[in-house]
Amino acid sequence: MKPLSRAMHERVFVFLSVAVASVVAVAGVFWAGAAVAARNGTRASTPGVPYANMPAIAPIGVRVDKYLDVPDSAKGPSVDQVKGYRTQKLGDGLYMITDGAYQSMFMTYENGVVVVDAPPSYASHIPQAIAEVSNKPITHLVYSHAHTDHIGGATSLGGRPIIIAQAETNRLLARDSDPNRPLATITFEDRYRLSVGNQALELSYHGNAHLPGNTFIYAPRQRTLMVVDVIFPGWMPWRRFAVAQDIPAYFAQVKEINAMTFDTLVGGHVARTGTHADVATQLAFIEDLKTAAAAALKTTTPGEGLTPTDRSGNPWAVFDNYIDRVAIACVNQLTPKWATKLAAYDVYIWDQCYSMEQSLRID
Ligand SMILES: [Zn+2]
Ligand SMILES: [Zn+2]
Repeated sequence: MKPLSRAMHERVFVFLSVAVASVVAVAGVFWAGAAVAARNGTRASTPGVPYANMPAIAPIGVRVDKYLDVPDSAKGPSVDQVKGYRTQKLGDGLYMITDGAYQSMFMTYENGVVVVDAPPSYASHIPQAIAEVSNKPITHLVYSHAHTDHIGGATSLGGRPIIIAQAETNRLLARDSDPNRPLATITFEDRYRLSVGNQALELSYHGNAHLPGNTFIYAPRQRTLMVVDVIFPGWMPWRRFAVAQDIPAYFAQVKEINAMTFDTLVGGHVARTGTHADVATQLAFIEDLKTAAAAALKTTTPGEGLTPTDRSGNPWAVFDNYIDRVAIACVNQLTPKWATKLAAYDVYIWDQCYSMEQSLRID
């Protein structure tokens, strides 16, 4: 694997730092005060000798000089940088818009257009993207969920569309009181069918996983399912399972999506749409991750390598040391199989292992 050299540099740097610090502490008249402070434990902690079996992939908080290459399978069609977005037809009157990082949809019908989400990164281009295929006004706006990075461009759509969202989304929006995310005018609890002309969207709520209110949006004629911030086609999920608020429920939703019927998946992120194979891959990955973290929790001994003082007087330190070693075992277990299968494996594998071990201990 390519980032080995970076990790080696890191270790050499740490060893050198420790060596230099020791020489200075022993010999330096000027450093006598600092040495006393260190002995008294009043100086901030410094990196020690790295843990045994430290993975080559840089841990959180360490600068990386070369990330793993993104596999071609994860890349989507290129986005015209001048235009700032790409439109992709998903079926009769249904389109995805993406800027390569975010995704939203719109659906045209006889008298108007339904927009699903308005990511602020390109929402000002949405009317232009619609104008390329329809001269009808935006009549409806569906929110996938309350997060501003997916709907915070709502007001740049213009007009006064009817806004539809799950009830929990409106509760969060009322709390956030953000003028860029106006409240929905129609809310629902479990299901809502939006029928316009000969087009339809089936909205359904499957409970909190990523965020309360996060809605499954299905276009039956186009066999397209949009679920945002759960599936990342070709990619490692965003950090800590895309900051899922309920990790066991997040796992359950990936399973649920894997069992659903659709041809095209719109995940809300990355540069391309997804398929059933992408969902199956993500499910296989998170199941391997869960197995690896569970095994590491069992086989790692708390307190190993700590001083008696830290072991007896500082339970936080005992856990910090234990959890670090659990995460190391988790990363080492997964890397051979997954490092080249999922884009940005190296970017977030530590995050995933840390949040998996935490969820396994407390959920
Ligand atoms: Zn979100
Ligand atoms: Zn997102």
